[in-house]
Amino acid sequence: MKALVYEGPRKVSVKEVPDAKIERPTDAVVRIRSTNICGSDLHMYEGRTDMESGRVLGHENLGEVVEVGSAVDKLKVGDWVAVPFNVSCGHCENCEHGLTAFCLNANPSGTAGAAYGFADMGPYNGGQAEYLRVPWADFNCLRLPEDAEEKQLDYVMLADIFPTGYHVTELAGLMPGESVVIFGGGPVGQMAALSATIKSASKVMVVDWHPDRLALCEKIGAIPIDYSKVDPVERVKELTNGKGADRGCECVGYQAHDPQGREHPNLTMNNLVKAVKFTGGIGVVGVFIPNDPGGPDPLAKQGEIVFDWGMLWFKGQRVATGQCNVKAYNRQLRQLIHMDKAKPSWIVSHTLSLDKAPDGYLHVTVRPVMWRERLQADEERVRRAPRRASCSDAELER
Ligand SMILES: [Zn+2]
Ligand SMILES: [Zn+2]
Repeated sequence: MKALVYEGPRKVSVKEVPDAKIERPTDAVVRIRSTNICGSDLHMYEGRTDMESGRVLGHENLGEVVEVGSAVDKLKVGDWVAVPFNVSCGHCENCEHGLTAFCLNANPSGTAGAAYGFADMGPYNGGQAEYLRVPWADFNCLRLPEDAEEKQLDYVMLADIFPTGYHVTELAGLMPGESVVIFGGGPVGQMAALSATIKSASKVMVVDWHPDRLALCEKIGAIPIDYSKVDPVERVKELTNGKGADRGCECVGYQAHDPQGREHPNLTMNNLVKAVKFTGGIGVVGVFIPNDPGGPDPLAKQGEIVFDWGMLWFKGQRVATGQCNVKAYNRQLRQLIHMDKAKPSWIVSHTLSLDKAPDGYLHVTVRPVMWRERLQADEERVRRAPRRASCSDAELER
């Protein structure tokens, strides 16, 4: 099969690799119909992780089931599924508590948590490919309704960024009627803004300085704050009667830059402490990593930042962090898409074929904007699943 292979910093190519196949009876093979390039892919692409050469990237996947192992019970060939980026077993202590981003069985290195095509997250190949092997397939695949193909640009967001955007509002403790400031207007920040709107936040403020991102968040009713023109902390205070936002969301991560392009891994965290009210909550889903050899200073290289702990304590704020447990949210968010109550595809800027994927990576890097690209497999070559009567609403709930 064809797949996008990481070959070292800033080098990816589409080449022939061994077919994804059933390796354990609980596996399924999914023919990829849509997949995204994520900001995390860019960390790997830019050589800011210890990703091994030769791995297939891609953890935001949607497709049709074309083969199931002998122990797969619920999933059927022909089902359209959104596949959470977390690979999780479903039966360890953390999975049983819904913490599927921290599965204790999926990562053979002993670290909690695994993902497809991801540095330090287990041996699983990604889905920027014609096919994907999905372990523990009954648990990991979310079946989609009859509008799956037509709305695949929306449903593909269920693999990562829509649940991740929702998760950061949960980590921050956002309740209806509260105000929230979101640092970072990339795809995850946009999904956090959409989620805050779904949760009836009274005021959603998004801080960024790329005009296209600020325009996107305005389309769903968020207030854009242009970091290159105003002090975002002062602006948030102005918009909240001097109090600060009730909740804050970090959707940038360790490669935070100032408008001049200098990297400051502590920039957004310290701004959040300042911009969020006394006793407010801060959620952090932007990626921070334990070691960053390419970091800008000796502290950053060890995954540490100069953090305003004193002010955080003084203000009585709480912080919650970590990757999203996609399965905690993806069913409900699927229903919002199905019932036309959420349309996360409003952020899609480009779609392209798998062959053009290396150009996609080049675009997202040379442009200061993290574009969300959707990659389509080559229709000519792929194995088609026999068409199956789509899941009924009652089936989708099981
Ligand atoms: Zn992602
Ligand atoms: Zn588990």
